Amino acid sequence: MSGSYNPFTVAQQQIDVAAEALKLDRATHQLLRTPEREVHVRFPVKMDDGRTEIFHGFRVQYNTARGPAKGGIRWHQDETIDTVRALSCWMTWKTAALDLPLGGGKGGVVCDPRKLSDREKERVARGYMRAIAQNVDPNWDVPAPDVGTTPQMMAWMLDEYETITGRRVPGLITGKPIGLGGSQGRNDATGRGGCIVAREAALAYKIPLEGKSMVVQGFGNVGMFAALLGVELLGMKLTAVSMVDGAIYNPKGIDVKALAEYARQHGGSTVGFPGAEALPMDELLTQECDLLVPAALEGVITPENAGNIKAKMILELANGPTTPEADAILNERGIIVVPDFLANAGGVTVSYFEQTQNSYNYYWETDEIQRQLDRKMSAAFKTIFEMSVERKIPLRDAAFLVAVSRVADACKLRGWV
Ligand code: NAD
Repeated sequence: MSGSYNPFTVAQQQIDVAAEALKLDRATHQLLRTPEREVHVRFPVKMDDGRTEIFHGFRVQYNTARGPAKGGIRWHQDETIDTVRALSCWMTWKTAALDLPLGGGKGGVVCDPRKLSDREKERVARGYMRAIAQNVDPNWDVPAPDVGTTPQMMAWMLDEYETITGRRVPGLITGKPIGLGGSQGRNDATGRGGCIVAREAALAYKIPLEGKSMVVQGFGNVGMFAALLGVELLGMKLTAVSMVDGAIYNPKGIDVKALAEYARQHGGSTVGFPGAEALPMDELLTQECDLLVPAALEGVITPENAGNIKAKMILELANGPTTPEADAILNERGIIVVPDFLANAGGVTVSYFEQTQNSYNYYWETDEIQRQLDRKMSAAFKTIFEMSVERKIPLRDAAFLVAVSRVADACKLRGWV
C-alpha cells in the first residue's frame, strides 16, 4: 500500500460518481458521503510483563437505513480511522448489493496481533468490547472477524458483552466458533462466494476457467479457501501465491492442500514450500494467469502495475485492492474486474445466515448454507451484470449503482432526505 493512499478518499470519490449517475439530490449525496456515527475508544490492557498499555480502537456505523450496521473488526498496527471509515462504507454497499437487510459498519484496534500472547489477545478483545458495548447490539450494530481477528476473539468479545448485559445474545456478533452459535460454512464463505461469482462471471463473459491458471495474493482466511475452492469448484490450477513474508510460484500448478498444510505447520508462512520456487513479491500481480485474486490488503493494484497485469479476470476478494486510477487502466485494457463488494460478499452473507439462525435458535446443515449462499451470490451477480449491460458500464460501476440506489431509497423511505 502506498503511503499517500487514503482509502476513504477513494470511497468518497466512488460515491460522487454514483451520485452523479443516479442524479441523487444534494442531501442524499451528502448523507451517503460520511458515516452516520463514529466511536473512538482508548482502553487499558494489562500486559503479561505487568505493564499497562493503552490501546486505541474505533467502531464506525456508516449507514443503518437498510438494517443494523454489519462489519468486521480488524486488528492491524497501521489501522487508521480513515481505513475503518472506508471499509464501513464499502460494507454498506456490499450488504445492499447482496440485498441483505443490513447496513454497513467496521471496527478496528491499532495493534499487531502477532506481537501479543494469547492471554494478551483475550484482554485486548475484552477491553475493546467493554469500550464499545454501549454502541453495539444485534438490532443495531453486529461485529465479526476481519484481518487479524479470529472466531476465538469473537467468543471472548461475546462473553464480555453477555457478562456486561447479563443475558445470552449470540446474534450480537458473527463469525463465532460453532459451539457458541457460529454457522456451518462461515470459514470458507468468502472464498466460496468469490468462486461462485467467478463461475457466473466466466459464463457471462465467456472466459473459460477450467484447467486455467489462478494467482492469489494473500493466503490467509480468504486467500487460502479461494485457492482451495478455485481448484475444487472451478477446476483451476494455482500457479503463484504470496503472503506478507514472500511469494512462490509453479507454472505446472501448486498442490494447494499440501500448501495449506505446510502453512499450518509453519506459523502461516508459505516460504520454503518444497512444491514451488520463490518469486519476487512485486512480480506476483503481474504474473501470466487467467484469474488474478488479490486477497490480502487494500491499494495493491496501482497505476504502476495495472498496465502490466496479464490476467483476463480479476476477482477482488480483498477490500479495495484496486485504486480508481488503476481501475480505469484495467477497464481500458478490457480486463474484467469483479468488484470487491460483490466478489467478497460471501462472508457477510453467511454472517447474515448466522444471525438468522441465532434469532431462530435453530441451525442449518452445511449443504443448506452452501445452497443458500450460491442462490444469493448468483442472484446478486445477475442483477449487477444486467445493470452493466443495460448501461454499458463496468461491473464495479453497475454494482455501485445497484447498491447506492438501494441505500438511497431506504433513506428516502425513512424520511431522512
Ligand atoms: P488474514 O489476516 O487471514 O490474511 C491476510 C493474508 O494476507 C495473510 O496471508 C498475509 O500474509 C497476507 N498479506 C499481508 N500483507 C501482504 C502483502 N503485502 N503481500 C502479500 N500478502 C500479504 O485476512 P483475511 O480475513 O484473509 O482478509 C484478507 C482480505 O479480505 C482483507 O482485505 C479483508 O478485509 C478482506 N475480507 C475478508 C473477509 C473475511 O471473511 N475474512 C470478508 C471480506 C473481505
